[in-house]
Amino acid sequence: MKDSILSQISLLNEEEKSRLYLIIERFLNDNEVDIVNEQVKEKVAVANNCPHCESTKTRKNGRQYGVQRFVCNNCKKNFRASTGSVTAHLKKKELLKAYIPNMLAGYSLEKCALLTGISKQTAFDWRHKILSALGKYQKSQMLSGICESDDVFIEFSEKGNQNLDRKSRKRGKSIFVKKKRGINDDKVAILISCDRKGNKHLQVATRGRISAEDINTILKDKLEPKTVLCTDGHRSFEAFAKKNKLEHQTIKVSAKEYVKKGIYHVQHVNQTAQDLKKWLQSFNGVSTKYLQNYLNWYALKSIIEENEVKKTIVMILTSFSAWYEFKNIINLAYIN
Ligand SMILES: [Zn+2]
Repeated sequence: MKDSILSQISLLNEEEKSRLYLIIERFLNDNEVDIVNEQVKEKVAVANNCPHCESTKTRKNGRQYGVQRFVCNNCKKNFRASTGSVTAHLKKKELLKAYIPNMLAGYSLEKCALLTGISKQTAFDWRHKILSALGKYQKSQMLSGICESDDVFIEFSEKGNQNLDRKSRKRGKSIFVKKKRGINDDKVAILISCDRKGNKHLQVATRGRISAEDINTILKDKLEPKTVLCTDGHRSFEAFAKKNKLEHQTIKVSAKEYVKKGIYHVQHVNQTAQDLKKWLQSFNGVSTKYLQNYLNWYALKSIIEENEVKKTIVMILTSFSAWYEFKNIINLAYIN
């Protein structure tokens, strides 16, 4: 029996093999990850903050419809392990496990929807809930040693917005208020930083030209002590480095200075910027309010690729702020 299956597998062509791989992977996921269990384990293990008032004085409070409930001793409200997570308010929780590998494989929304058995709108919403969950990991990553930083401009866009028919209420913080007059208002600046250990940090900074203050807000708590900053020598970086007493190596690529400066160069960050632009193009126009989510994805891509699917799913399931962050983006208004 076993021999005949193996000999049949060896006869499959590449496409059939990759289909088989997906079927096996889905089978393993269906059997390995118990969504509710993983979330309960995580909630009990870490400081179990109340999602309503953030008090840590919480305790288990029986089960409702088979799901573990918690109660807050401070505000007396009940909550579940899934409150605030990707699975909050989801009717088809189990389908998430099939959806996540499809999404991470880089399939289009149509294909993900089809393979998972959900609508395209649901596939879009899930994509962004998942990317909101990844934001937590991108935020907690630190940079150290030699850190290369640069800013890159992306066209400001309200296109590609899948939710245009949803009335956008003017709630949530808007990074787009800071529109600056005169300089590249139609562009959004992204600050890209990467160290030599492969850690990446990508953050939407502002509309128009990036200031020392923008850089300070984004990077001041991200760099370990004694980090050496490598940039193209733009004045904003100079001012940021001075303010934070960082060693700053400037490399003007146009002057071919990188030959002289040896280990100090900005080739990684330049490469990352080019690669990011190419990758973003594959989504056929990213709406600016969803841009940070795609940056979260991009920054963690190599970590996700090295991880088992199961680990990645658990990482996504155990963010308990994803749902709130996703709601914030949906309610984000474009302010010109
Ligand atoms: Zn509470």
